[in-house]
Amino acid sequence: MSAPTPRPGILDIEPYVPGESQSLGGKPPIKLSSNETPLGPSPLAIEAFSKVAHTMHRYPDGSAYELRQALAQRYGLNHERIVCGAGSDELLSLLAYGYLQPGDEGIFTQHGFLVYRIAILASGGVPVVAPEKNLRTDVDAILEKVTSRTRIVFVANPNNPTGSYIPFEEVRRLRAGLPAKVLLVLDAAYAEYVRKNDYEAGLELVATTDNTVMTRTFSKIFGLAALRLGWAYCPEGVCDVLNRIRGPFNISAPAIAAGVASIKDTTWMEAACAHNERWRDWLMSALKTLGLDVTPSVANFLLVHFPSDGPHNASAADAFLNERSILLRRVSAYGLPDALRISVGTEDENRTAVKTLAQFLGRDEQEAERIAQMGLPST
Ligand SMILES: *Cc1c(COP(=O)(O)O)cnc(C)c1O
Repeated sequence: MSAPTPRPGILDIEPYVPGESQSLGGKPPIKLSSNETPLGPSPLAIEAFSKVAHTMHRYPDGSAYELRQALAQRYGLNHERIVCGAGSDELLSLLAYGYLQPGDEGIFTQHGFLVYRIAILASGGVPVVAPEKNLRTDVDAILEKVTSRTRIVFVANPNNPTGSYIPFEEVRRLRAGLPAKVLLVLDAAYAEYVRKNDYEAGLELVATTDNTVMTRTFSKIFGLAALRLGWAYCPEGVCDVLNRIRGPFNISAPAIAAGVASIKDTTWMEAACAHNERWRDWLMSALKTLGLDVTPSVANFLLVHFPSDGPHNASAADAFLNERSILLRRVSAYGLPDALRISVGTEDENRTAVKTLAQFLGRDEQEAERIAQMGLPST
């Protein structure tokens, strides 16, 4: 008897394990495991989403025209170069599928987003890992991995789970060093959070080359993770490929409506960004006060490092927090077994997480409370 067999590569895939959403603690958990925004979606997005309920017997606009228009207007882009997807995850998979033949190589970085490996393997491609330097993308290391079989390179900038970024000059140097036939995918899922003069999400490179794509998402700062909505800004040829292979109605009507409203609500986005900056800096200094090493981050999460031996290791910390209904993200699958990733939460969530970590590290009650009630760092 011979059962149907999947394409080569598919059984090599380790299924993606999302951040925890259920705790052992009983209470509704403090969920700091998936980099969601603590402020929730824009009220205008909720309103737009609700309105669509009455017409859900109709197919959505398969071209997501209104959403592409709104994005084009907001960022000064050509709407014909935008393709929307059911989360940027869908677009990353379609890009791999569109450009990799079995045996072709796709490069990503040592602690890069896990979806790249899955997308490459699912397309029959060969995943190639480029080492990072100090938990940061290393352009020279990527260029050293290029062979005649390389067809695609995925770079998350900023990267998840490290929170680090490379300046635009480095991205430009990467593009210049890659062969023209290699598609460079810049995954800018956290771009809206970055406040650095030398950072750029990649729009300019997409506009001026025919082999660079930038992907973005509504799941993070815009707070629409449940709706599954992302977009890519692409050269004409890549748009054409994506539009041929995507599902004809890959974006739902509520997602289009909520996406348009979110893009227009710049006040909401700015508030989310300001909250993030304030509390990311606070978390950073509170965690350092606890004696933990923290990787500097430009995104809405921090990578926190624990001693590899002894009672205060990352796995014990995760278990301790989980029992108290606080969910962080284990990142062993990213090659970081001694670290946990914590998303920036509300003020209360941040303070509770810090207090609980202080207890885990053996601080007495008074000291734990003192650190958890630290003021905001002056900026
Ligand atoms: C969260 C995240 C995404 C977004 O995924 P969606 O499918 O749009 O929800 C993409 N890339 C990275 C690096 C991420 O962390």
